[in-house]
Amino acid sequence: MVKLIIDGKEVIAEEGQTVLQAAQEAGIYIPTLCYHHEVKPYTACRLCMVEVTKGKRTRFVTACDYPVAEGMVVRTNTDKIQRCRKLIIELLLAQCPGLPRLQELAERFGVEKVRFSKGESDCILCGLCVRTCQEVVGLSAIGFEGRGFTRRVCTPFDEASDPCILCGACAYVCPVDAIPVEEVDGYRVMERWHKRSKLVACSKCGRYFMTEDELRLLKEKTGLPEESLRLCMDCR
Ligand code: SF4
Repeated sequence: MVKLIIDGKEVIAEEGQTVLQAAQEAGIYIPTLCYHHEVKPYTACRLCMVEVTKGKRTRFVTACDYPVAEGMVVRTNTDKIQRCRKLIIELLLAQCPGLPRLQELAERFGVEKVRFSKGESDCILCGLCVRTCQEVVGLSAIGFEGRGFTRRVCTPFDEASDPCILCGACAYVCPVDAIPVEEVDGYRVMERWHKRSKLVACSKCGRYFMTEDELRLLKEKTGLPEESLRLCMDCR
């Protein structure tokens, strides 16, 4: 175990944990956008920036990927950090002015105006959707394309991506709700990925519970008979 101080509070963390994990377990809030505990840290948003002192050295690090160490002193909310977070939120708002989740964050952190020219994107490029599809779902149905201002997340060639099973995991983790999922006339539709898939109804209770693409993948992966897979979790 490792003993450290976060915001004046003594915290015991496990070896190998990150500062963010240790803080979260101790009930200390550090804001994040691109972090999710199910996928590897990516440090894209840098909102989790904290000040760390080890020995005589103090530096700014991203809490989501910085490992805890014995005797480390962490400050999560100094004036400098507050200024840094405000600037990050302001830059994100300049890039994506229409996102309500960002506007909420701006209000919470006291960002009153955006001094930079405004874009019209609805994606903060945190890559959480891409990483979740790869690392959790085990597919690579979406990815990054382009560089700089033209960088974006999309399907290959902007066409319906074959591997996508419309599981909705990418939409679930999106920190700014930028990936809509709709269920219309017995289909799940994800316009952002140019894809729709028929919904499968549970053979016992009749409730829609997965897409045909999910069923196809499950059949391939498990080798189980289709009848057993057509039962929802409640009816199994
Ligand atoms: S809905 Fe498609 S793109 Fe999104 S996580 Fe599932 S398989 Fe990947």
